[in-house]
Amino acid sequence: MSDCLFCKIVKGEIPSRVAYQDERVFAFHDINPQAPVHVLVIPKKHIPRIAEMGEGDAALMGEVLESARKIASQNKWKDYRLVINDGPEAAQTVFHVHLHLLSGRRMTWPPG
Ligand code: 5GP
Ligand code: ZN
Repeated sequence: MSDCLFCKIVKGEIPSRVAYQDERVFAFHDINPQAPVHVLVIPKKHIPRIAEMGEGDAALMGEVLESARKIASQNKWKDYRLVINDGPEAAQTVFHVHLHLLSGRRMTWPPG
């Protein structure tokens, strides 16, 4: 989608610190990290949010999850938190689905 921030990052039109990419998945470091490690893992395909996933997107989101596992494993980030904020009330601000991969500090629960 041409006016989507994360689609522009995937295309390289907006620079990012790339953590991983393959044919269908892209991962980059968050500009405003909430932990020593804060990577956003996204499908290259524009899907606005989980609630708007379509046919075939479940397999793609499985690849997003598997990519997060690989990135963490390759970097030896042993424990981590994976978060998807889905919708404005859940604190989603960018409407291209993304998995937050957070690590490097002790986490608390429940979230705020
Ligand atoms: P959300 O609130 O939608 O779950 O997460 C959006 C995330 O995107 C936020 O953590 C925010 O810091 C990050 N973000 C917003 N704009 C940019 C950008 O231009 N570059 C990068 N690397 N991250 C961004
Ligand atoms: Zn997009």
